[in-house]
Amino acid sequence: ADQGTLLEVSNIEVVYGGAILAVADVSLTIGNGEIVALLGANGAGKSTVLKAISGLASADRAKVRRGHIRLGGEDILGLAANKLAARGIVHVMEGRHVFPHLTVKENLLTGAFLHRPSRKELKRQLDDVYAWFPRLRDKQSTQAGLTSGGEQQMLAIGRAFLTQPRLVLLDEPSMGLAPRIVQEIFEIIVRLNREKGTAFLLAEQNAALSLAYARRAYVLDTGRVALEGPAADLAARDDLHRIYLGDG
Ligand code: ATP
Repeated sequence: ADQGTLLEVSNIEVVYGGAILAVADVSLTIGNGEIVALLGANGAGKSTVLKAISGLASADRAKVRRGHIRLGGEDILGLAANKLAARGIVHVMEGRHVFPHLTVKENLLTGAFLHRPSRKELKRQLDDVYAWFPRLRDKQSTQAGLTSGGEQQMLAIGRAFLTQPRLVLLDEPSMGLAPRIVQEIFEIIVRLNREKGTAFLLAEQNAALSLAYARRAYVLDTGRVALEGPAADLAARDDLHRIYLGDG
């Protein structure tokens, strides 16, 4: 059954500072409640595609010069990041970006600015996040900067959920983390997807990992889509790494 298209990116071209072509021609779709992986070697353009979708491109002096981006059929290209957040798109950037001097709980509360929930509703949402990530409950009064890399990644995802997103753009969630922690995080992503119907676009260099959790995937090569298809089909291709991912 067709689950309906949530996001449609058509033929975008993205340029940094008016000169550096980072994304030449990328088209992709994400269905409602779908987990999609965006793969590619270092510098292939994954982060830039995410920034184009979330509206954060302009913060890096990047501009979408060509193409369309539609959410639920509506044109969203050029909207500011806060407007996009209000429409349900949240971007968890590479490197996690938590506020190091705020506690874990205070960091989570910054995610609530958007919908200003009642005290009771806010408590329910925090309890949800703590149920998904019990480590965050244990460390709720600890300064975020003093928690582990895995805990900071969980915090960044938990905080994103307080904005009640329809689509989470996750940039390199596995980066620098131990395999066991990475698995824990990916299992939570699948659980959030099932329980909340949240769609995910996962930008990852770790192809095997994301293909194990995503339904479909796109492989970028120097700013273009080189391959796309069901995750299981791509996982079965033994030339994927050699040709596109530059890692063996
Ligand atoms: P990585 O995993 O290393 O982030 P990526 O696939 O996400 O790789 P991008 O970060 O989107 O790739 O980079 C795509 C291209 O854009 C690269 O050539 C990169 O050098 C360039 N680029 C990225 N950010 C900037 C920036 N702020 N200013 C200028 N060029 C940039």
